[in-house]
Amino acid sequence: NEKDIATPKRTKQILDKYGFSFKKSLGQNFLIDTNILRRIVDTAELTDNTGVLEIGPGIGALTEQIARRAKKVVAFEIDQRLLPILKETLSPYEHVNIIHQDVLKSNVKEVIEAEFDKGQDLAVVANLPYYVTTPILMKLLEEKLSIRTIVVMIQKEVAERIAAKPGTKDYGSLSIAAQYYAKAETAFIVPKTVFVPQPNVDSAILKLTLREVPPVDIMDEDFFFEVVRASFTQRRKTILNNLSSHFVNSFTKKDMESCLMEGEVDPKRRGESLSMEEFAILSNLLLKKGI
Ligand code: SAM
Repeated sequence: NEKDIATPKRTKQILDKYGFSFKKSLGQNFLIDTNILRRIVDTAELTDNTGVLEIGPGIGALTEQIARRAKKVVAFEIDQRLLPILKETLSPYEHVNIIHQDVLKSNVKEVIEAEFDKGQDLAVVANLPYYVTTPILMKLLEEKLSIRTIVVMIQKEVAERIAAKPGTKDYGSLSIAAQYYAKAETAFIVPKTVFVPQPNVDSAILKLTLREVPPVDIMDEDFFFEVVRASFTQRRKTILNNLSSHFVNSFTKKDMESCLMEGEVDPKRRGESLSMEEFAILSNLLLKKGI
């Protein structure tokens, strides 16, 4: 479409008209390829009943493509300078609402309640600012919002870590943290050439499908995540060494070894080889043995 925001020509016209200069510190890399944008929106499987939360609309490139397929779009933008631009570029779309807020400081649950219908199908679709990808994703997951799916463009390396399976080099506490809340997959890889300015890293589309119930039974979530993080403190160390240094005040190395054996985890294994199920059993066991 000639009139799409996300063509190199129209983007340049808009940026020139407002004398806009990119702020690297805000992760501003705008998309200028409508094919990629359509594939992102396709991945989110929107219906004309879906409400969408977007983070960082920029000049509205992705917002426009979402607006053509969704019931309503609510977008958080931190940069005041973009507000008058968005007002112009998105003027044909009345069902788009821009909220001038740092998403990390926002009460997203309240925004959802105020902006969308109760029980409405909800998705997050965004080209995230790379400097805060992980905090934004963890915030959206930990707040247990009533969202069906999160489809985001992020750094390829981070997407691979989030979607990694046990026994791979990318698997770590971030994989387990995300996969506890959602099924994670890398939908497709995106070349640097579809952005202005071009970022230094490759990008990928990550698709998270949120779980309605946790995949494992855990007595204490905070403690489970503490055990997971502790197990990866030094990747090359055994699970026994990592856990006994972390819990040095509550367990002797020998007691830790017995707990691992009781949980049927060989103390010589490394954290990266344990499944989420094994971490769950282990953390419940350590909790019972009285940490
Ligand atoms: N969606 C646009 C696109 O695809 O062309 C812009 C994406 S750009 C990678 C990230 C956007 O997020 C920028 O517009 C930036 O100003 C905004 N942003 C950065 N930090 C933010 C924050 N903490 N809360 C809300 N928006 C933020």
